[in-house]
Amino acid sequence: MYNLNKENGRLKLAIQKSGRITDGSIELLNGSGFSFSYRDGVLYSPVNNFPMDILSIRDDDIPRYVQEGVCDIGIVGSNVVEEKNPDIEILVPLNFGRCRISICVPNDSDIKSVADLSGSKIATTYPAILSKFLKSNKLSCEVTEISGSTELTPSIGVADAICEIISSGSTIKFHGLKELKRIFDSEAVLIGNKQSLQEDRSKELIKRLLIRVESRVLSRDKKYIAMNAPFDKVEELKKILPGIKSPTVIPLLEDGMVAMHSVVNEQDFWDVLEDLKNAGASGIVVSSIDNIIP
Ligand code: ATP
Ligand code: ZN
Repeated sequence: MYNLNKENGRLKLAIQKSGRITDGSIELLNGSGFSFSYRDGVLYSPVNNFPMDILSIRDDDIPRYVQEGVCDIGIVGSNVVEEKNPDIEILVPLNFGRCRISICVPNDSDIKSVADLSGSKIATTYPAILSKFLKSNKLSCEVTEISGSTELTPSIGVADAICEIISSGSTIKFHGLKELKRIFDSEAVLIGNKQSLQEDRSKELIKRLLIRVESRVLSRDKKYIAMNAPFDKVEELKKILPGIKSPTVIPLLEDGMVAMHSVVNEQDFWDVLEDLKNAGASGIVVSSIDNIIP
C-alpha cells in the first residue's frame, strides 16, 4: 500500500485506468524516461527512477482529482477538460488521443445546415460543449444528456441529431449518420493542480517532468535523416523536403559530395522520397528519435 499522503514528497500523476488514452499515456511516460510496471486494475504504480506515483482512475474523474489536489497532475482528453471546466492549468498538449466532437444527423435528415438545427432535439454525452456551441450560434435546441450509445437515438425517434466523439467516422457511418458540424478538436493534455504548481517541492518536480515529457512529445512523428548528395544539389534538396531548414552539411572525402543530416516530419519525408532520389540524394538513412531537447 502506497502512501496517499501528499507529504511523502512524491508527485501524484493520474492517468486513465483502461481506455483509449491509457496505452498512449504509458508509452509517453516510458518514452520520457519514467520506469514503472503498469498492471491493469492496479490503482498505484510507483515510478522507480523518479519521485512519482501513477494513479489509474476513470478519465471522467481525472479533472476533479487534479482540481482537488488528490493528484498534482493528470493526463486526460481536452474534451473532458472542456466539458467539466475544472479549475486547473493545462500544461502541455500531448499530440495523441486525437478525436473531435461533432454534431451528426441521419443521412436523410431535413437538417442540412447548422441553422436548420434550431428547435431540434439533440442527444449528447457532452452537454456543456454542445450548449456552448449552440449559445454562440444563437440556436435554441432541446439538449438531452445521455450516458452512451447516442448513435442509436435518431433511429428510435429520441433525437433529431446527436453530438458525439468521432475519430475515423466509421461508427456514425455504420448507424446511417453523417457529420454536420465539427465543434471541438481534442487531444490528450497534461493538466496540473494550481497549488502544486506554486509549492516549491512539487513545482520543481513538475518542471523536471515537463522537460522530459515535452522532449518526448517533440520527437513523436519525427525522424532523423542522413543522406549523401552532390554539394551543388543541397539547395534543391532543401526545397524538396519541407521542414529541413538548416541541415547539418558535412563534406565527404569524395570530391564535391556532402552528407546532409536533419530532423524532419516522418510523413513529409516519405511523401518526397522519390523526389529526393531523383535530385541526387543517395545512401539515405532514416532513424527514430527518442527525445528532442531544444
Ligand atoms: P472511462 O471508463 O475511463 O470513463 P470512457 O469510456 O469514458 O472511459 P474512452 O472511450 O476510453 O473513455 O475514451 C477516453 C478518451 O479517449 C476520450 O475522452 C477522448 O479524449 C479520447 N478518444 C480518442 N479517440 C476516441 C474515440 N474514437 N472515441 C472515444 N474517445 C476517443
Ligand atoms: Zn469516461
